[in-house]
Amino acid sequence: MKIDKIIELSQSSDLPKDGWIQSCLTCGTKTARIHDYKIEEHTLYRFIFKAFLCPECKKKINTSVFKEKFNNKCEKKIKKINYTYVTLENELNIPVDSENIKLMTNVSF
Ligand SMILES: [Zn+2]
Repeated sequence: MKIDKIIELSQSSDLPKDGWIQSCLTCGTKTARIHDYKIEEHTLYRFIFKAFLCPECKKKINTSVFKEKFNNKCEKKIKKINYTYVTLENELNIPVDSENIKLMTNVSF
C-alpha cells in the first residue's frame, strides 16, 4: 500500500509554516482555502498536491489564462521539492513523517 503525502503549495511568506492560513499561490493574499491541484503516483508514495488559493483566484480558475499561470506556478514549486522527495523515496522503505514533508514543502523560494 502506498503512503499518502499531502504537499501544500503556497507563496512564500512570513506566516507560520504550520498554520492554517498561508499566502495564495497566485496573488499572495492570505487565505485558508485550498485547491486540489493533482495527484502523482510514485513507487512508495502517492503525492497529493494542494495549493492555497484565495476565493478571488478560485473564481478565475476555469479561465485558460489564469489556469495556465496557476499551473506554471504549481509546477515551478513542485520542481523545487522534487529532488528532496525523490531522494527520500530512494531511501528504502523508511516512512517519512508528515512533519518532514510539511517542512520540505515550505522551503522559501
Ligand atoms: Zn489569490
